Amino acid sequence: MSGLALQNVVKEFGSFRAVNNVELTVPHGTFVCMLGPSGCGKTTLLRMIAGLDLPTGGAIRLDGEDITHVPTHKRNLGMVFQSLALFPHLTVGENIAYPLRIRKAPKEDQKRRVEELLSMIHLAGYADRPVSKLSGGQRQRVAIARALAISPKLFLLDEPLSALDAKLREAMQVELRQLQQQLGITTIVVTHDQREAMTMADTVVVMNGGEIRQAASPIEIYRRPADSFVADFIGQTNLIEAEADTQGHVSVLGQPVPGLALPAGAAKATLSIRPEDVHLTAPGAGAISGTVTFVRDLGGTIETFVDVAGRQIVAVSTPRERPDVTVGQQVGVALTPDVCVVLRK
Ligand code: ATP
Repeated sequence: MSGLALQNVVKEFGSFRAVNNVELTVPHGTFVCMLGPSGCGKTTLLRMIAGLDLPTGGAIRLDGEDITHVPTHKRNLGMVFQSLALFPHLTVGENIAYPLRIRKAPKEDQKRRVEELLSMIHLAGYADRPVSKLSGGQRQRVAIARALAISPKLFLLDEPLSALDAKLREAMQVELRQLQQQLGITTIVVTHDQREAMTMADTVVVMNGGEIRQAASPIEIYRRPADSFVADFIGQTNLIEAEADTQGHVSVLGQPVPGLALPAGAAKATLSIRPEDVHLTAPGAGAISGTVTFVRDLGGTIETFVDVAGRQIVAVSTPRERPDVTVGQQVGVALTPDVCVVLRK
């Protein structure tokens, strides 16, 4: 297969297992974001792909070749880490050309490649500037261009945008994705920022406790989370317990919900309902009832907090579909089967 394959990869530090039996296929030309809370093992996994750490078990294959024990410099990688490690005393052009100079590429080829890359990162004409005179975003682009100078097979980035302010980071996410699509280069980015992952990735890999909890497209992760960890970690959601009686009739927070079914034989399950899917109605048939406790109007969106049997359910709407409710009012919360995702755990 062309691309990257992680086969049963394990990393132990002493008796601590930081990465546990990770299986992942990254097809050639795709963009993967590894996402998860601090300490979940994403950097350790990236370091093993880079050859900076050796797995305790399993194998890593690139385009079918077992590279588990191949040293970093022979893996044909481009890498950008949080500390960009640009050479401060060199110019932009010299920084980008550095990997080519080390490989003793002809001077003319170096110059041509630097110009090509500068135009790709929208810094044409900057070759002779000292990097010390660049803005944070410009430095970021130079680090990316330097990593891409050798036309690597695999592009690895660890929290590459985390030092930038929020606006610039969002702009750079779009640029990085567009550059990756233009080059068709297989790319893996580690981030703890879910919005960043959703913006850039073909596949989001959600990790926790050294394991992959789900690997899927951003929209599938959001719409069809595999378990309650993923549902809660990606975006906002309402996690609510549901119960089924022996006839399979389901109730949520003590109130019957006709039409909803739990997996065969399950007496209990957790439902994930995105706030934008929660529809408030008049109390009555087909809805569980609760009391509005707070309305937060953020201008672009309105959040309505509803107390149902001591549990808070959040509904989000736009100003156009603003629910006509006030604090203290009794409302119905419509839980139709199409908005409830029944989770494994
Ligand atoms: P963050 O977002 O905070 O960078 P992460 O998901 O990248 O977190 P890792 O850096 O991969 O997490 O670390 C995973 C676990 O392995 C952590 O519990 C960490 O303390 C541990 N760990 C990482 N490197 C070492 C090491 N060299 N020796 C011992 N433990 C390590």
